[in-house]
Amino acid sequence: MQAPAARLHALVILCAFCYTAFMNTTAVGRFAPSPSGYMHMGNLLSMLLAWLDCRALGGRMIFRMEDLDPARSKEVYKTALEEDLRWLGMDWDEGWPDPACAQSMRTGVYEDAFRMLERKGLVYPCWCSRADRLAAASAPHPGEAEHDPGCPCARLSRKELAERERSGRRPAWKLRVPEETVTVDDGHYGRISQNLAQDVGDFIIRRSDGVFAYQLAVSVDDMLMGVTRVVRGRDLLSSAPRQRWLIETLGGVAPDYCHGPLLSSGEGKLSKRLGSLSTQVLRQEYRPEELTGKLAQLCGLTETDEPVTPWELLCSFDWNRISRQDIPLLEQ
Ligand SMILES: [Zn+2]
Repeated sequence: MQAPAARLHALVILCAFCYTAFMNTTAVGRFAPSPSGYMHMGNLLSMLLAWLDCRALGGRMIFRMEDLDPARSKEVYKTALEEDLRWLGMDWDEGWPDPACAQSMRTGVYEDAFRMLERKGLVYPCWCSRADRLAAASAPHPGEAEHDPGCPCARLSRKELAERERSGRRPAWKLRVPEETVTVDDGHYGRISQNLAQDVGDFIIRRSDGVFAYQLAVSVDDMLMGVTRVVRGRDLLSSAPRQRWLIETLGGVAPDYCHGPLLSSGEGKLSKRLGSLSTQVLRQEYRPEELTGKLAQLCGLTETDEPVTPWELLCSFDWNRISRQDIPLLEQ
């Protein structure tokens, strides 16, 4: 017969073990909006799919504020993002408004990752145009050129490098990618393989003004926050292989990626109005259940746009029901 103290001790160890096992196996999803404007239907669909995916797996949800770019991020949009998610009935377990989950407060961890990549000889300064550098701070969008054919900065002689350094201009910093094929098995779109050197090319990880670029920050955050499920719009599908490679190069474990369809405003008869309306207007025209019902029908989760809450959608949530084609917004 064990003494009560010994039994209590054993119980504590057992609980700690179970908790650790649970924390290691539970799914971790994230909302990762950028506060550079009010959300619209497309953002809301991505948020809804991310939330449903995570909660259907019994996972933890993190709300990360992607406010890297000080020129574009506004407090008013941060407040609106939080209010919109709560209004729709989606919750999260950690993150915003905790400043530790705002990218603008996480410069130190990006700096550490940058130094690690530098020590591996993968980083070089780039003196190319300002437009290229600014483009690197935001996520790529459909139709944007993905492949960087390379710039002369990758192959400068010592003399040329010294000349540029003497110019006094501050360079951006690029990551040198290898001739390596990286494969991601996307949960919705299937396998995507990219040869990083041929299909992507070297990319900017820090702008000349010191701001870390999207690809570095998002990879470091997903790695350090223990994210296991990245659910977002398919405009970021082509970023997944380089993010996986970046995380693994930094010694981390890449999450599973699952991309969702985009809403398309289309041409002619298709309505651009609904697609362009901000949540500020949508919230005046719809109740939250009505808007969720509309989103659920648009993506294929439900047959009709009956009002529904995110929690009510959980039991029937199934990626197989969700369209792989982009979704046209029809005229009302
Ligand atoms: Zn360059």
